[in-house]
Amino acid sequence: MSEDALVQLTNEIKACVACQLKENRTQVVPGVYGQSNGICFVGEAPGYYEDQKGLPFVGRSGKLLDNMLEGIGLERDDVSILNVIKCRPTTNERGNRTPTESELRFCGDRWLFKQLKLLNPRLIVTLGGIALKFFIPKAKVTKYVGKQHNTNYGLGIFVTYHPAYILRNYNIMETYNEHFEEIKKTLNSTTNETTHIHNTQSKSKSKQKSLSDFFKSD
Ligand code: SF4
Repeated sequence: MSEDALVQLTNEIKACVACQLKENRTQVVPGVYGQSNGICFVGEAPGYYEDQKGLPFVGRSGKLLDNMLEGIGLERDDVSILNVIKCRPTTNERGNRTPTESELRFCGDRWLFKQLKLLNPRLIVTLGGIALKFFIPKAKVTKYVGKQHNTNYGLGIFVTYHPAYILRNYNIMETYNEHFEEIKKTLNSTTNETTHIHNTQSKSKSKQKSLSDFFKSD
């Protein structure tokens, strides 16, 4: 990965005014890049807190994602976390809205692919149905979830739920844990020296996260 190229690309993204979503944003949220090129999570778009802080997946969803990573021996700094869209879709100051398909396509085609090309991750994990739709337009998350799929872009993706969905549907927390175990297994099967899977931290079910762990640490 060329760090200079990544810095340059990130600066271009931060300065982007190519679509109407620039109007209501506080700032662009380009994403964060991991210390290894192992894994890249892709969500849909920044929400209120992300827009305020300029970082992806902050607030309760971000905290759950951090917990899930910890459960498989990873830290946030180890992984790249991006959104398809870099500016918050909103109808008013506080309300988030689901991005339209054309917004998704416009921003994602413009920036996300360039980021992925430079990062060259060994595994892309989509978080939620909107991010999945960007890679496989007609896909429904319920049918694709928990597995790896090829896309028309020559990229393989592993599909899982958005953490915000788990916070509203904690009955599927065990399934979410299984997805993250699968992610770990996939990464370990292609591990090289740049990967930071801390095997001492978690291999067993006992380290897997329950939603009550999450709320306790909240
Ligand atoms: S949403 Fe994407 S394309 Fe639109 S202004 Fe923001 S960075 Fe540019």
